[in-house]
Amino acid sequence: MESFNWHSYYRLDDIYDWLKDVSAQYPQEVQLRRVGKTHENRTIISARLSLKGSINRSKVIVEGGCHAREWLSPAVVTYMLYTLLNANKYKDQELERIAYTYTWVFIPVMNPDGYEYSHTTDRLWRKNRRPGGGVDLNRNYGIAFGSHGASTYPTSIQYCGDSAFSEPETYSMATMAREHRHKLEYYISFHSYGQFLIIPYAHLIEHEDNYDKVKKMADKAAERMKVNHGITYKSGTAYETVGYLASGTSSDWVKRALNVSYVFTIELPDTGAHGYALPPGRILPSCQAIMDGLLDIFTPQSKRFLRLHDSAAGKNRLCVKVIFFCNMFLYVMIYAINYLC
Ligand SMILES: [Zn+2]
Repeated sequence: MESFNWHSYYRLDDIYDWLKDVSAQYPQEVQLRRVGKTHENRTIISARLSLKGSINRSKVIVEGGCHAREWLSPAVVTYMLYTLLNANKYKDQELERIAYTYTWVFIPVMNPDGYEYSHTTDRLWRKNRRPGGGVDLNRNYGIAFGSHGASTYPTSIQYCGDSAFSEPETYSMATMAREHRHKLEYYISFHSYGQFLIIPYAHLIEHEDNYDKVKKMADKAAERMKVNHGITYKSGTAYETVGYLASGTSSDWVKRALNVSYVFTIELPDTGAHGYALPPGRILPSCQAIMDGLLDIFTPQSKRFLRLHDSAAGKNRLCVKVIFFCNMFLYVMIYAINYLC
């Protein structure tokens, strides 16, 4: 566990060994689960983090490693898990508050076959490893399937597959997300590169749902990263940021099908000088910057959380409720005893 860090890119087995070590060392806080299996029989693993003292919390799903060659994405997901797990060691109240606010579900590598293939055979591989050329997993979800920025030709780099959820990776991820849909408040999907905070929907030019509210959150995070880290992230829809439409993405499907409030696809550094081959020395600064920005994004939004954190008043209100229900129970019992006797 100690030898794992954010100065190198790791192979799948190293990432999985680290996850197993973390869950062995913190069994109460971190539990691993098998999300599904791939074409080449690799396992997609999720790590659930819920810090001690957990009560009835909202959930965050953090997805990484969809596109094989985007190696910074799994690195950022493991960094988030590490930082939130150790939140009380940073002496950062904001980080600590957020770490304890949610139950976190991390999937560092949702495309393990492709990730390994990009290490062993083709550094610029993007898709999964479906025999016949692979499928672009971020075009295979069941929203506006095959309509924009996707190809129906298996040799295309953006091949969307035969049908929505035809791939074991997307099918398993969607099943897992559905299981968490109750209280699922955030879904973050990490990609690289471009430095964009992308807000649903990628297949539409116009803004829908709570776009304006999410845009304000994104702008606040971008400003923070600019001031604290000198890094510029642009926010908006896919059309407004990367400059093209795309259909069948995980973020859009989660937003539409599961009605999740706050959904982002984040294109990590850089803006193209190194592209997918970001030097290892840039991994840690990139992780630190986005984690800092995310503190603004994860500031509790719903009234339920504000109540949860309004601790003193919250405790008082809870006491009043408990006393009220105890009294009601006693009245009912007395009335029932009187009636029966
Ligand atoms: Zn990507």
